[in-house]
Amino acid sequence: MSIIKLEGVSKFYKSEETVSVGMKRINLEFDLGEFVAVTGESGSGKSTLLNVISGLDSYEEGELYLFGEETSHYTIQDWERYRGTNIGFVFQNYNIIDSYTVLQNVLLALEVQGYDPKKRKARALELIEKVGLLSHKNHKASKLSGGQKQRAVIARALAKDCPIIVADEPTGNLDSQSGAQVMQLLHDISKEKLIVVVTHEYDMVKEYATRKIKMHDGEVVEDKKIKKANEILYVEPPKIRRMHFLTLVRFTLRNLFSMPKRLIFLTLMQMIVMIAFVFVFNWRVSLMRDISVSQSQRFPNVPETRVLVERRDGLPFDASDVSYFESIRTVEKVYEHGLSFFNTMKLYLFNPSEAYQCMPAAMCYSAIDYNGVRATDAASQLSPNNITGRLPEAANEIVWGHQWREIEVGTTLYLGTQYNYYGAVPSDFLGEFTVVGIDNRKQNRIYFSDEFLNNPNLDRYTFNSGAKLSLEQQASSNFHILYNSEYKYFERDMTKTGRAVYLGTGTYTLLETRNLTFNGYFYQDGTWKESNLQIPLQNVAIYQGTSDEWRNFMSEDIYQELVEVVLEELKSFYLIENRPVISLSVRGLGNGNRTINAIDFDTYRVIYPANIPDPSSSAISFMIGLLTGILVILAGLLLYSIVHAVSKNMMKTRKKDFAIYRSIGTTKTTLARLVVMEQIFIAAMSSAMMMTIIIVLNNQVPQIYSILQYMQVSHYITLVALFLAFGAWLGLRFNKKVFRQSVIESIVSSREE
Ligand code: ADP
Ligand code: MG
Repeated sequence: MSIIKLEGVSKFYKSEETVSVGMKRINLEFDLGEFVAVTGESGSGKSTLLNVISGLDSYEEGELYLFGEETSHYTIQDWERYRGTNIGFVFQNYNIIDSYTVLQNVLLALEVQGYDPKKRKARALELIEKVGLLSHKNHKASKLSGGQKQRAVIARALAKDCPIIVADEPTGNLDSQSGAQVMQLLHDISKEKLIVVVTHEYDMVKEYATRKIKMHDGEVVEDKKIKKANEILYVEPPKIRRMHFLTLVRFTLRNLFSMPKRLIFLTLMQMIVMIAFVFVFNWRVSLMRDISVSQSQRFPNVPETRVLVERRDGLPFDASDVSYFESIRTVEKVYEHGLSFFNTMKLYLFNPSEAYQCMPAAMCYSAIDYNGVRATDAASQLSPNNITGRLPEAANEIVWGHQWREIEVGTTLYLGTQYNYYGAVPSDFLGEFTVVGIDNRKQNRIYFSDEFLNNPNLDRYTFNSGAKLSLEQQASSNFHILYNSEYKYFERDMTKTGRAVYLGTGTYTLLETRNLTFNGYFYQDGTWKESNLQIPLQNVAIYQGTSDEWRNFMSEDIYQELVEVVLEELKSFYLIENRPVISLSVRGLGNGNRTINAIDFDTYRVIYPANIPDPSSSAISFMIGLLTGILVILAGLLLYSIVHAVSKNMMKTRKKDFAIYRSIGTTKTTLARLVVMEQIFIAAMSSAMMMTIIIVLNNQVPQIYSILQYMQVSHYITLVALFLAFGAWLGLRFNKKVFRQSVIESIVSSREE
């Protein structure tokens, strides 16, 4: 039985307009042991014949029998199997992987067929020796001469231990000496195999050929036995086994590292794109954070790591409450006091020369750092590794962690609180502190000692003067009273007593005495609102002045009366009462919401200051959130499209390599695994680099920390997973496309590109 038999096989090349004939009704049989020379002028169909019998190309008519089996029903997998186990290829254009060394090219063929890993290298070297390239085994294929390349290809073809070797003008690009060497080599191996050599220089093979086939116009015009072929019994070649995982890893790594420039470029690009995305993403998170903080007039000073809780029944906490909170995994520390502190106004550095003038509860305009400290926190949650100096031990010691102002250990600072209401700046002097440590991460925070935070007297500073004052300011600056069906604004006049209001200035005369209703406007949650308060003011004497109609005054008594009622109304918003509230210090920025979810809502009410949305401005916040969200997504897409475009181009350049992998029997599945694996490696490397850079930047550049502090581990994981998924998808798509063409088509088209 012949191992290859063609019965009336025709091959047509169809293009849009024309159909050209590759070969017509060919009847041929081939056997093991033959050395067949196929000759004929250019365009006579030699390559077509070769490609069809080796399963590199399809045929349209007739039947091709391989080992007695019809092939018209063959699937891609069947052809892959046939090529993989039976055929070794040698082409005119040296189908060699240029970026590999000789050894790697040969090893690849052994790996693809699942050759015993332990014997693989020895076998490869043996074959390389056979083709006389041992001294060049570690040379890159691109650095070899044409003859050397062709010999390397033959070594690779031999590695497959396949019964059939086809060679399409293997000497076409070689000088006569190298050509002779290659033919000699083919002859040497022909003893156990079927060798089909296409050549238009018959002279080069005539001493080896056992048979000569001459083609013309797609037809066989001569088929002549020259000498007796060796008699060989067909031994089934080893089956191709699925590539072992470790071999696949090796294959992947070799691919990546055989083109180091490509690898470095792709990795760096992906890393830069990921870092850029991280920055864009964090920009949005911190923007939204700043918006919500600036809208949260109540707790502008509270870090995201702080969650407040109170009992729903309003009772004080006991030890079991504390241990309940301590048992929550994300809670680092439980502070039984300290709420009041966080309820305060924004913290400012005060000018030392004027600081004492602000005490107590006087108006002070001398805060010198209007940028403020972003937040305050407990020093006990700091790791000593992060600070220069030490942690506070006494109540008046602090750790400084502000990025815009360099302060040394040992400096004395004057701190106070301020709140700005329409130009009125009530302030409160908190105290004189010594900086004993610097937080190297510079998160714009000041860290106080537990002694300071746990001091219940702290309320005196924060509620009773600072906060209360600002509320008074807020309330009194808007004392509008309905008079003659019109709201008029009344200023406080501390010199006047009794139940009286004054319209205008100058000399007053009593106009009338009657009941009035107060219904003021308040500045609440970031906007002016008409209050629901209707405060009746009975028997108010109304005086009419002689000039300045637009200024009105109220007596101190009325002012005090109104402030009392207004404060009563406002204090529930501002927690200015000494309500029993516990404050939880949460591990890391992302854990606030996780902590809240862990708390039993039936028993406790949770206040998460950093997250308090402002209901009145929520539409604006929502729009900003939406717009910036879209912007982040667009930026992500834009950044990714760069990776996409570059990767795609890179893939294209590998088309030839993929065709070669296929021609030596690599299956679609293996190549799919290869591209996915490559993406995994690139993603792994670029994310490792990204993390290294981000960690270094975080530690070295304080500004970076404040930008990146919102990034969580889960964000990084998602980012890397996305890159991986997109990369793998791109690779698989490329692979699918490659396999839509026949091997020959893709080799031809890769040459054209
Ligand atoms: P040879 O190898 O003897 O030079 P080929 O087998 O390459 O000849 O070509 C045989 C005929 O088929 C020629 O007429 C050639 O133009 C045509 N042919 C070969 N390959 C293609 C192709 N990919 N598309 C269209 N026509 C082709
Ligand atoms: Mg040809």
